[in-house]
Amino acid sequence: MFFSDDDLVFDRRHIWHPYTSMSHPLPCYLVRAARGVELQLADGRLLVDGMSSWWAAIHGYNHPQLNQAATQQLEHMSHVMFGGVTHPPAIALCRKLIAITPEALQCVFLADSGSVAVEVALKMALQYWQARGERRQRMLTLRHGYHGDTFGAMSVCDPDNSMHSLYQGYLAPHLFATAPQCRFDEPWDEQDIAPFAALLEQHCGEIAAVILEPIVQGAGGMRIYHPTYLKRVRELCDRHRILLIADEIATGFGRTGKLFACEYADIVPDILCLGKALTGGYMTLSATLTTRFVAETISNGAAGCFMHGPTFMGNPLACAVATASLTLLEENHWQQQVAAIESQLRQQLFPLVRLPKVADVRVLGAIGVVEMREPVDVAALQHKFVERGVWLRPFGKLIYLMPPYIITPQQLTRLTAAIAAVAE
Ligand SMILES: *Cc1c(COP(=O)(O)O)cnc(C)c1O
Repeated sequence: MFFSDDDLVFDRRHIWHPYTSMSHPLPCYLVRAARGVELQLADGRLLVDGMSSWWAAIHGYNHPQLNQAATQQLEHMSHVMFGGVTHPPAIALCRKLIAITPEALQCVFLADSGSVAVEVALKMALQYWQARGERRQRMLTLRHGYHGDTFGAMSVCDPDNSMHSLYQGYLAPHLFATAPQCRFDEPWDEQDIAPFAALLEQHCGEIAAVILEPIVQGAGGMRIYHPTYLKRVRELCDRHRILLIADEIATGFGRTGKLFACEYADIVPDILCLGKALTGGYMTLSATLTTRFVAETISNGAAGCFMHGPTFMGNPLACAVATASLTLLEENHWQQQVAAIESQLRQQLFPLVRLPKVADVRVLGAIGVVEMREPVDVAALQHKFVERGVWLRPFGKLIYLMPPYIITPQQLTRLTAAIAAVAE
């Protein structure tokens, strides 16, 4: 396919991009193809990808095994409705999901995107309490959280970051605890859980569920917190019989160095949301898992069923690719890949903390974060990164990377060197 400058003009004029303005759009780069860890621009330039297309492309782009899974499935069917019908790709995927997640999580809801997986989790919690004859409609969550852009998901995102003020009167009023302050590798400070515990105890009779991102808060600030915080949250939820929803849409599938970030605290949520890397970045698909107890409680309630069912639920093409991606994850020794990325990120990013413009550097698993003292000029920085042959997409004060697990040490060095150059 060939592109002309006209295409970029058309794009600027007519096509929304994530969080962009139609009157003052930032420059966009035309991508022609992507292979392995590289994006190829229309003019032929190759960029080393540091974003995995927002946590998703863990095996890199254009992977032969994932391509094969997709093309094989196309020959059978790309889609069929999921109401009254089932199919091998969904069954194979759910078998695998149940096998790799904690034993207690036995029932899977396949949804279209991360935000929808979160909507499903919130609805599960509401229907669960409804079925138990208790009116509990509030969620307790953490500041600096991010759970998606649909209304339910947005209502539990950080109220400032997601501009709740814009939608006042429309969003459910949930409870927001101070975000964890104790860092992942600091000694645990028992005081850190106090604000959360106080809020939970004060409102325990009205809280349906706690929802949070375990260990790493992603798009709400790329903050990495202490596993004991999560342990305490689980204990508090148990004590007050409140459901715990773990949103592992960003952290899942090895990104933090564990298959799921909850493993750092050795806890099991009542509801687990997965997405992003589920299909290795090939297509949109997500899953919400829960316990048989929660599933049966919901099913025995007034509605007699769980009230959700998207048109493209369990899309066979997406399920087939997701199953192939999980197989690849097992074959590829992701533990070693992620551990190697982590040690290189520590070595190459930690020294930047001495630069005057840098406020903080954080690393966990295949995630590296350089927090600047001032918000960055995204367009200017993006241009510099492209000039240096790398693809990074900063936001706010954060320059961060979460590369595909197959990245080579040389490619990773190009990314960290580019960050070092702009952080000077
Ligand atoms: C990206 C993300 C979502 C939303 O997923 P979409 O696929 O963008 O709807 C939800 N929760 C977390 C933690 C995420 O990182």
